[in-house]
Amino acid sequence: MTDFIILGQGLAGSILGYKLSKLGFSIKIINLYQPQTTSSWVAAGLFNPVTVRKLSLSWNASFLFQALNQFYPQLEMELAGQFFFEKKIIRLMDSPAMQNDWLARISSGLLGEFCESAELYPLENKHILNPFGCLCFSRGGYVDTMALLEAMRNRFLTNDELLEVTVPITPSEIYFKNGGVEIRNLKSKTLIDCSGYTAASFYGMDLLFKPVKGEILTVRIPDLHLESIVLKGVFIASLGKDVYRVGATYDWDLSMLTPTPEGKSKLLEELKKITPLPAEVLDHKAGIRPASKDRRPLIGKLPVTQSFDSAYIFNGFGTKGVALIPYYADHFIEHLFNNAPLEREVDMGRFVSIYR
Ligand SMILES: Cc1cc2nc3c(=O)[nH]c(=O)nc-3n(C[C@H](O)[C@H](O)[C@H](O)COP(=O)(O)OP(=O)(O)OC[C@H]3O[C@@H](n4cnc5c(N)ncnc54)[C@H](O)[C@@H]3O)c2cc1C
Repeated sequence: MTDFIILGQGLAGSILGYKLSKLGFSIKIINLYQPQTTSSWVAAGLFNPVTVRKLSLSWNASFLFQALNQFYPQLEMELAGQFFFEKKIIRLMDSPAMQNDWLARISSGLLGEFCESAELYPLENKHILNPFGCLCFSRGGYVDTMALLEAMRNRFLTNDELLEVTVPITPSEIYFKNGGVEIRNLKSKTLIDCSGYTAASFYGMDLLFKPVKGEILTVRIPDLHLESIVLKGVFIASLGKDVYRVGATYDWDLSMLTPTPEGKSKLLEELKKITPLPAEVLDHKAGIRPASKDRRPLIGKLPVTQSFDSAYIFNGFGTKGVALIPYYADHFIEHLFNNAPLEREVDMGRFVSIYR
């Protein structure tokens, strides 16, 4: 019998499982391995302290960025891999009005340590269309999620902490008995669901989730020589050697889960507003982001059965798993072992009236 069964080896299950294992707990992660379509594996992995749409710092940026800046470099050392890349984030301005709004915002000190320049940033790359100037934000970057998850996967397999399944676990295969949980002959004291958007239908929680499909391209743009991450409508992020990720679309219609020609055209159209250079498409993927109804994580007790109260959920990381998960994994662990209260905004308890 293990201390924990974790359902799902995306970013949430991997990072939480890794932290629990390092604390000395026995874990078994059960995962349907499908890297071509899983949100965590197809994600661009960007972390950006600024919410461009709202002209403000993103939610809890200072805590989240402190945690991610500690966690990922440390993990690189422990797993002897490279997946954490700090990059400048350049926001191209759409209009003189936008320029004014941003400059006012920045001079008010609101973006503090995260904004490199209170002036319009001089972008020297002549292939980037930039008639209204741009602003540069520091402390952004990206995590190569595929490299990270592959390194984690190898570690879990080596330690016999991961069971890969080819057919997804169904709710009828989860038995709560004798004060524990049993799934496909694996027994544990505690279940933690990290299954991404599929949790919605799994536990009858459709009202709590609002999953968002995203499509993303990998392209080659010879001669662009862009090092920073550039945002305007879409993002373009360098993977080196003039290969870039371009994304992402947001689509709440989940009737088609695969990449679509419309998604690809949309991304390429937006890309043309950033650079006129031709892009050769190397890859095109889609995944479903596990977003919650109020766009905040879903953490805490999973009231699946009245006789068993050791079932939890660590999920709902939506569009920002890379920044949210390291901090909230620690927060959840504090809650599990030291009875620290969960923040109201992430606690499953906030939905008690509609879920119970
Ligand atoms: C196109 C795109 C771009 C994105 N870009 C970014 C970005 O730039 N920055 C950022 O922070 N976030 C980004 N995201 C969001 C990010 O991917 C998510 O926030 C995060 O990866 C969610 O991780 P998760 O582990 O909760 O869920 P998932 O990644 O969905 O992982 C769930 C895992 O559980 C497994 N599973 C599910 N059901 C079962 C079952 N019944 N039995 C067995 N296994 C099961 C799945 O196979 C999967 O491995 C992007 C997402 C997409 C789609």
